[in-house]
Amino acid sequence: MAVDLAPEPAVAELVTRTAQFVRDVVVPVEVANDGVVPSESVRRELQAAAKEAGVFAPHVSPEYGGHGLDMCARAAVFEEAGYSLLGPVALNIAAPDEGNMHMLEAIATEDQKARYLAPLAAGDVRSCFAMTEPAPGAGSDPDALTTRAERVPGGWRIDGRKWFITGADGAAFAICMARTAGEPGDRGGATMFLVDADNPGMKVGRHVPTLDESLFGGHLEVDFDGCVVPDEAVIGEVDQGYRYAQVRLGPARMTHCMRWLGIARRAQDIAVAHAAQRELFGARLADLGMAQQMIADNEIDVAASRGLILRACWELDQGRSAGLEVSMAKTFTAEAVWRVVDRSLQLCGSVGVSGDLLLGRFLREVRPFRIYDGPSETHRWSIARRVVGRHTAAARA
Ligand SMILES: Cc1cc2nc3c(=O)[nH]c(=O)nc-3n(C[C@H](O)[C@H](O)[C@H](O)COP(=O)(O)OP(=O)(O)OC[C@H]3O[C@@H](n4cnc5c(N)ncnc54)[C@H](O)[C@@H]3O)c2cc1C
Repeated sequence: MAVDLAPEPAVAELVTRTAQFVRDVVVPVEVANDGVVPSESVRRELQAAAKEAGVFAPHVSPEYGGHGLDMCARAAVFEEAGYSLLGPVALNIAAPDEGNMHMLEAIATEDQKARYLAPLAAGDVRSCFAMTEPAPGAGSDPDALTTRAERVPGGWRIDGRKWFITGADGAAFAICMARTAGEPGDRGGATMFLVDADNPGMKVGRHVPTLDESLFGGHLEVDFDGCVVPDEAVIGEVDQGYRYAQVRLGPARMTHCMRWLGIARRAQDIAVAHAAQRELFGARLADLGMAQQMIADNEIDVAASRGLILRACWELDQGRSAGLEVSMAKTFTAEAVWRVVDRSLQLCGSVGVSGDLLLGRFLREVRPFRIYDGPSETHRWSIARRVVGRHTAAARA
């Protein structure tokens, strides 16, 4: 069996160009703004520069102005984009827009693509994905979904409350998950709806204050209050929302891993540069055993994450759902990037926690990744159930 991990030449060239663009153009803006996109105009300037450099929207098909990369090719390019907190926004591959584009391209009708995907892929508008609800609603357990959509003449009326909806402030539309059959706790029975932000029934409320700040547009409460949408707002088929969510969530979990892996590498680069020049106890920090261990463990965590991501991406590229591989890669990477950033900060001593380096910012940004896209415990639970189920089936056979 031939195993070739090298990207094809065109992808390798795009990886190099993306790396150069991020270092030359994006990192200076990031450093000047403490890792946070300061305004809509800066978002647009960065995206214009990415278009100019030919690195914009690598994930969408050429028909929508992109490079049409498959998941394995995305892994290398997104990691380079993720080397800066602002890189994903610059390339238009930040969450939640990137996941929404992926799903719309796979499932939406041609009319929906023209109206929602085309401007999103061009960076002309932003979007959000509204699934999570305050307790007792949907969170780790999607079946707890309480937001309802009831049939009305010519369409649907949505009622319910969402929160932690990333990017809702300033989004042109939301993709809202609502229950169209069954009761909270029942499996299935959800439908995805496209809701324009100017719909009077969709009310974007409070910014929920969070540890992280770099995901553009914040994390918000969103109320759907007698929100009437036409039949054309349904994505795919009614009651099939959870099936479509898997089309979005598996790849979106991996692209989050790819981007955060870029930040982990950046943290390691900062730490190694510091350790290589800092003298203490008559030696370079980089030559002291416990420092070497942290540097080596960082390298192992980055390489192991990359391997698990690639494995899951390969499965996804074969058209499989790759639930087990995605859960393993997501859990490991979310925890590994935290360890890498934390060790890097430790290696830098006091300057590590200062605002002079961005390591403190990186630490705040990567921590929530162990919760969103499925908490580590939910993924471990799912992995164990699959493994035990496999064992039980084999024992019966
Ligand atoms: C920064 C950020 C951005 C987000 N963006 C979005 C967004 O754009 N759109 C959206 O819809 N949602 C978004 N979310 C919500 C996110 O998807 C949810 O937080 C996540 O699904 C967990 O749900 P919950 O917060 O309700 O936690 P709960 O479901 O209440 O879980 C609490 C804890 O229970 C534990 N747990 C879970 N499952 C198990 C298990 N099987 N066994 C044992 N323990 C378990 C875990 O430790 C978990 O952290 C975002 C969250 C954050 C923090």
